[in-house]
Amino acid sequence: MIEKPSNPEKHLVDFRGRQVIEGWPEKLEAAQKSRHFMIDGKSFPRIAWGDETMELEEARRNWEQYYKGAPALIESQMNLVKDEIEQEKAQPCPDCITEKGELHVWPCDREECPNCRHQAMTCLCNKELAE
Ligand SMILES: [Zn+2]
Ligand SMILES: [Zn+2]
Repeated sequence: MIEKPSNPEKHLVDFRGRQVIEGWPEKLEAAQKSRHFMIDGKSFPRIAWGDETMELEEARRNWEQYYKGAPALIESQMNLVKDEIEQEKAQPCPDCITEKGELHVWPCDREECPNCRHQAMTCLCNKELAE
C-alpha cells in the first residue's frame, strides 16, 4: 500500500456545515475587523453580505427595459427577484462562507464596492482595507 503524501496546507475543518481549509474560520473572524475601505483618502464602510444593491438595480434596469410602460409587470418581476436574492443571502456567501450581516474575506468576488457599487474585486477604485 502506498501512503498518500501528507499535505499540511490542505487540512480541512468543519465549519458552518461545510468543509473549509484549516484557518479559514479565523480568517473570517479577522475580516470583521476591517470594516472600511479607504478610497482616494475617503473612508467607506464595507458592504456586508446581504446588503448589496447591485443585483437589484441591474434586474430593475433589465425589467424596465423589457416591460417598458407596464409598471405592474415590472413590480411583480422585481418581487420575484427580491425573493430569490433574499433566499440566496439567507445562506452563507458561496465564496467565503461569511454569513448575512458579516463582512467578506477580502478579496471575495461577491463583495460590492461601496463607492461605485460594482464588484469590489474588479472595480477600478483604488481601495485599501482599513479598520
Ligand atoms: Zn464572500
Ligand atoms: Zn469601486
